Amino acid sequence: MTALLDVRGLSAGYGDFQALFEVYMAVEEGETLAIIGANGAGKTTLLRTLAGLVPASSGTVRFAGADLLAVPAWKRVGHGISLVPEGRMLFPSLDVRENLLIGAHARRGGRWNLDRVIEVFPLLAPLLGRPSEVLSGGEKQAVAIGRALMANPRLMLLDEVSLGLAPLVVKQLYAALPEVVEAGTTVLVVEQDIGQAAAAADRLVCLLEGRVVLEGDPDCLTRGDIVAAYFGMKAET
Ligand code: ATP
Repeated sequence: MTALLDVRGLSAGYGDFQALFEVYMAVEEGETLAIIGANGAGKTTLLRTLAGLVPASSGTVRFAGADLLAVPAWKRVGHGISLVPEGRMLFPSLDVRENLLIGAHARRGGRWNLDRVIEVFPLLAPLLGRPSEVLSGGEKQAVAIGRALMANPRLMLLDEVSLGLAPLVVKQLYAALPEVVEAGTTVLVVEQDIGQAAAAADRLVCLLEGRVVLEGDPDCLTRGDIVAAYFGMKAET
Protein backbone atom coordinates (compact mmCIF):
# COMPACT_ATOMS: atom_id res chain seq x y z
CA MET A 1 0.00 0.00 0.00
CA THR A 2 1.27 3.48 -0.82
CA ALA A 3 1.45 5.72 2.24
CA LEU A 4 -0.48 8.99 2.17
CA LEU A 5 2.63 10.74 3.46
CA ASP A 6 6.06 9.31 2.78
CA VAL A 7 8.98 11.17 4.32
CA ARG A 8 12.47 10.04 3.36
CA GLY A 9 15.77 11.38 4.60
CA LEU A 10 14.25 14.76 5.47
CA SER A 11 16.62 17.33 6.92
CA ALA A 12 15.70 20.90 7.78
CA GLY A 13 16.72 23.75 10.03
CA TYR A 14 17.06 27.45 10.55
CA GLY A 15 20.02 29.03 8.75
CA ASP A 16 23.14 27.19 9.87
CA PHE A 17 21.28 25.36 12.61
CA GLN A 18 20.10 21.88 11.65
CA ALA A 19 17.00 20.76 13.56
CA LEU A 20 16.00 17.62 11.61
CA PHE A 21 18.45 14.92 10.53
CA GLU A 22 17.37 12.47 7.82
CA VAL A 23 13.90 11.78 9.16
CA TYR A 24 12.13 8.76 7.69
CA MET A 25 8.43 8.35 8.40
CA ALA A 26 5.30 7.12 6.63
CA VAL A 27 1.70 7.86 7.48
CA GLU A 28 -1.07 5.68 6.10
CA GLU A 29 -4.43 7.12 5.08
CA GLY A 30 -6.88 6.96 8.00
CA GLU A 31 -4.17 6.63 10.59
CA THR A 32 -3.58 8.78 13.66
CA LEU A 33 0.13 9.11 14.20
CA ALA A 34 1.58 10.89 17.23
CA ILE A 35 5.01 12.46 17.26
CA ILE A 36 6.48 12.61 20.72
CA GLY A 37 9.76 13.93 22.03
CA ALA A 38 11.27 16.27 24.59
CA ASN A 39 11.52 20.05 24.23
CA GLY A 40 13.62 20.95 21.22
CA ALA A 41 13.44 17.45 19.66
CA GLY A 42 12.26 18.91 16.36
CA LYS A 43 8.56 18.05 16.46
CA THR A 44 7.30 21.51 15.53
CA THR A 45 10.02 21.86 12.90
CA LEU A 46 8.86 18.62 11.29
CA LEU A 47 5.25 19.82 11.08
CA ARG A 48 6.32 23.25 9.85
CA THR A 49 8.49 21.64 7.17
CA LEU A 50 5.54 19.51 6.03
CA ALA A 51 3.38 22.66 5.92
CA GLY A 52 6.08 24.42 3.88
CA LEU A 53 6.94 27.02 6.51
CA VAL A 54 10.47 25.73 7.06
CA PRO A 55 12.46 24.81 3.94
CA ALA A 56 13.82 21.27 3.69
CA SER A 57 17.57 21.12 3.08
CA SER A 58 17.51 17.55 1.77
CA GLY A 59 15.29 14.53 1.46
CA THR A 60 11.96 13.85 -0.20
CA VAL A 61 8.34 14.07 0.91
CA ARG A 62 5.62 12.47 -1.15
CA PHE A 63 2.02 13.30 -0.34
CA ALA A 64 -0.68 11.27 -2.08
CA GLY A 65 2.03 10.19 -4.49
CA ALA A 66 3.13 13.72 -5.47
CA ASP A 67 6.32 15.62 -4.62
CA LEU A 68 5.21 17.82 -1.71
CA LEU A 69 8.44 19.80 -1.43
CA ALA A 70 7.82 21.18 -4.91
CA VAL A 71 4.51 22.68 -3.74
CA PRO A 72 4.79 26.19 -2.25
CA ALA A 73 3.48 26.62 1.31
CA TRP A 74 0.49 28.69 0.26
CA LYS A 75 -0.71 25.93 -2.06
CA ARG A 76 -0.39 23.08 0.41
CA VAL A 77 -3.80 23.70 2.03
CA GLY A 78 -5.37 23.32 -1.40
CA HIS A 79 -3.45 20.06 -1.77
CA GLY A 80 -5.05 18.77 1.44
CA ILE A 81 -2.58 19.61 4.21
CA SER A 82 -3.77 21.84 7.06
CA LEU A 83 -1.66 22.87 10.04
CA VAL A 84 -3.04 23.66 13.48
CA PRO A 85 -0.07 25.68 14.68
CA GLU A 86 1.45 25.82 18.12
CA GLY A 87 -0.11 28.84 19.85
CA ARG A 88 -3.28 28.48 17.72
CA MET A 89 -2.69 31.75 15.83
CA LEU A 90 -6.31 32.93 15.69
CA PHE A 91 -7.28 36.42 14.60
CA PRO A 92 -8.06 37.88 18.05
CA SER A 93 -10.49 40.61 16.99
CA LEU A 94 -12.45 38.38 14.62
CA ASP A 95 -15.27 36.33 16.07
CA VAL A 96 -15.31 32.56 16.18
CA ARG A 97 -17.44 32.20 13.05
CA GLU A 98 -15.09 34.48 11.09
CA ASN A 99 -12.04 32.59 12.32
CA LEU A 100 -13.63 29.33 11.22
CA LEU A 101 -14.64 30.70 7.82
CA ILE A 102 -11.08 31.83 7.15
CA GLY A 103 -10.19 28.12 7.12
CA ALA A 104 -12.59 27.59 4.23
CA HIS A 105 -10.79 30.13 2.04
CA ALA A 106 -8.64 27.58 0.21
CA ARG A 107 -10.91 24.62 0.86
CA ARG A 108 -11.04 21.43 -1.11
CA GLY A 109 -14.36 19.76 -1.74
CA GLY A 110 -15.43 17.50 1.10
CA ARG A 111 -17.56 16.88 4.14
CA TRP A 112 -16.45 19.63 6.50
CA ASN A 113 -18.43 22.84 6.88
CA LEU A 114 -19.45 25.13 9.73
CA ASP A 115 -22.32 22.89 10.88
CA ARG A 116 -20.14 19.80 10.91
CA VAL A 117 -17.42 21.55 12.92
CA ILE A 118 -20.02 22.65 15.47
CA GLU A 119 -21.31 19.08 15.66
CA VAL A 120 -17.85 17.85 16.53
CA PHE A 121 -17.10 20.77 18.88
CA PRO A 122 -20.53 21.68 20.34
CA LEU A 123 -18.83 23.96 22.87
CA LEU A 124 -18.34 26.42 19.98
CA ALA A 125 -22.06 26.82 19.19
CA PRO A 126 -22.78 29.53 21.79
CA LEU A 127 -19.46 31.25 21.06
CA LEU A 128 -19.82 31.86 17.30
CA GLY A 129 -20.34 35.61 17.66
CA ARG A 130 -17.65 36.14 20.28
CA PRO A 131 -14.23 37.61 19.50
CA SER A 132 -11.67 34.84 19.77
CA GLU A 133 -9.50 36.91 22.12
CA VAL A 134 -11.97 36.39 24.98
CA LEU A 135 -12.03 32.59 24.68
CA SER A 136 -10.36 30.15 27.06
CA GLY A 137 -7.32 28.20 25.87
CA GLY A 138 -9.39 25.08 25.21
CA GLU A 139 -12.00 27.01 23.25
CA LYS A 140 -9.27 28.65 21.17
CA GLN A 141 -7.76 25.24 20.45
CA ALA A 142 -11.17 23.94 19.32
CA VAL A 143 -11.49 26.94 16.97
CA ALA A 144 -7.98 26.33 15.61
CA ILE A 145 -8.76 22.68 14.91
CA GLY A 146 -12.15 23.62 13.46
CA ARG A 147 -10.52 26.21 11.20
CA ALA A 148 -8.14 23.56 9.87
CA LEU A 149 -11.04 21.16 9.25
CA MET A 150 -12.95 23.80 7.30
CA ALA A 151 -10.37 23.35 4.54
CA ASN A 152 -11.33 19.67 4.26
CA PRO A 153 -7.80 18.41 4.81
CA ARG A 154 -6.69 14.96 3.81
CA LEU A 155 -3.95 15.32 6.41
CA MET A 156 -4.24 17.51 9.49
CA LEU A 157 -1.04 18.47 11.29
CA LEU A 158 -1.84 19.19 14.93
CA ASP A 159 0.90 20.85 16.92
CA GLU A 160 0.99 20.60 20.73
CA VAL A 161 -2.75 20.14 21.19
CA SER A 162 -2.62 19.95 24.96
CA LEU A 163 -0.02 22.61 25.73
CA GLY A 164 -1.19 24.73 28.66
CA LEU A 165 -4.66 23.18 28.80
CA ALA A 166 -6.46 21.51 31.72
CA PRO A 167 -6.61 17.69 31.52
CA LEU A 168 -10.40 17.67 31.14
CA VAL A 169 -10.22 20.07 28.18
CA VAL A 170 -7.49 17.99 26.58
CA LYS A 171 -9.71 14.93 26.95
CA GLN A 172 -12.59 16.74 25.21
CA LEU A 173 -10.38 17.79 22.31
CA TYR A 174 -8.95 14.31 21.83
CA ALA A 175 -12.45 12.84 22.01
CA ALA A 176 -13.20 14.62 18.73
CA LEU A 177 -10.34 12.97 16.83
CA PRO A 178 -12.07 9.66 15.98
CA GLU A 179 -14.85 11.64 14.27
CA VAL A 180 -12.26 13.61 12.35
CA VAL A 181 -10.61 10.41 11.16
CA GLU A 182 -13.98 8.83 10.37
CA ALA A 183 -14.73 11.83 8.14
CA GLY A 184 -11.67 11.00 6.06
CA THR A 185 -8.91 13.12 7.58
CA THR A 186 -5.62 11.51 8.56
CA VAL A 187 -4.08 13.02 11.70
CA LEU A 188 -0.46 13.71 12.53
CA VAL A 189 -0.36 15.05 16.07
CA VAL A 190 2.56 16.41 18.08
CA GLU A 191 2.11 15.63 21.72
CA GLN A 192 4.44 16.02 24.71
CA ASP A 193 2.29 13.91 27.01
CA ILE A 194 3.39 10.34 26.33
CA GLY A 195 0.30 8.79 27.95
CA GLN A 196 -2.04 10.96 25.92
CA ALA A 197 -0.17 10.23 22.71
CA ALA A 198 -0.20 6.48 23.33
CA ALA A 199 -3.93 6.53 24.09
CA ALA A 200 -4.91 8.56 21.02
CA ALA A 201 -2.60 7.25 18.30
CA ASP A 202 -2.39 4.12 16.18
CA ARG A 203 1.35 4.63 15.97
CA LEU A 204 4.02 6.66 17.76
CA VAL A 205 7.15 8.21 16.36
CA CYS A 206 9.65 9.51 18.90
CA LEU A 207 12.13 12.23 17.93
CA LEU A 208 15.32 12.89 19.84
CA GLU A 209 17.56 15.77 18.81
CA GLY A 210 16.06 15.85 15.33
CA ARG A 211 16.24 12.11 14.67
CA VAL A 212 13.65 9.34 14.76
CA VAL A 213 14.71 7.05 17.59
CA LEU A 214 11.60 4.92 18.03
CA GLU A 215 8.53 4.06 16.01
CA GLY A 216 5.72 1.61 16.61
CA ASP A 217 2.24 0.69 17.76
CA PRO A 218 1.82 2.04 21.31
CA ASP A 219 0.20 -1.28 22.32
CA CYS A 220 3.37 -3.11 21.33
CA LEU A 221 5.87 -0.72 22.92
CA THR A 222 6.64 -0.83 26.63
CA ARG A 223 6.53 2.33 28.68
CA GLY A 224 10.23 1.70 29.36
CA ASP A 225 11.01 1.69 25.61
CA ILE A 226 9.12 4.93 25.10
CA VAL A 227 10.56 6.76 28.09
CA ALA A 228 14.09 5.62 27.18
CA ALA A 229 13.69 6.89 23.60
CA TYR A 230 12.11 10.14 24.78
CA PHE A 231 14.97 10.95 27.12
CA GLY A 232 17.74 9.35 25.06
CA MET A 233 18.60 6.65 27.58
CA LYS A 234 19.28 2.96 27.07
CA ALA A 235 16.10 0.90 27.58
CA GLU A 236 16.14 -1.25 30.71
CA THR A 237 16.36 -4.95 29.93
P1 ATP B 1 8.97 22.10 21.86
O1 ATP B 1 8.24 20.95 22.41
O2 ATP B 1 9.79 22.83 22.88
O3 ATP B 1 8.17 22.99 20.96
P2 ATP B 1 10.03 20.78 19.50
O4 ATP B 1 10.32 19.33 19.60
O5 ATP B 1 8.78 21.18 18.82
O6 ATP B 1 10.11 21.43 20.94
P3 ATP B 1 11.33 22.56 17.70
O7 ATP B 1 10.50 23.72 18.12
O8 ATP B 1 11.09 21.95 16.38
O9 ATP B 1 11.28 21.41 18.80
O10 ATP B 1 12.84 22.98 17.79
C1 ATP B 1 13.91 22.13 17.33
C2 ATP B 1 15.20 22.92 17.46
O11 ATP B 1 15.15 24.02 16.54
C3 ATP B 1 15.42 23.51 18.84
O12 ATP B 1 16.80 23.41 19.14
C4 ATP B 1 15.01 24.95 18.69
O13 ATP B 1 15.73 25.79 19.56
C5 ATP B 1 15.37 25.24 17.23
N1 ATP B 1 14.50 26.24 16.66
C6 ATP B 1 13.14 26.20 16.61
N2 ATP B 1 12.66 27.29 15.96
C7 ATP B 1 13.73 28.03 15.60
C8 ATP B 1 13.90 29.28 14.90
N3 ATP B 1 12.85 29.96 14.44
N4 ATP B 1 15.16 29.73 14.71
C9 ATP B 1 16.23 29.01 15.15
N5 ATP B 1 16.14 27.84 15.82
C10 ATP B 1 14.91 27.36 16.04
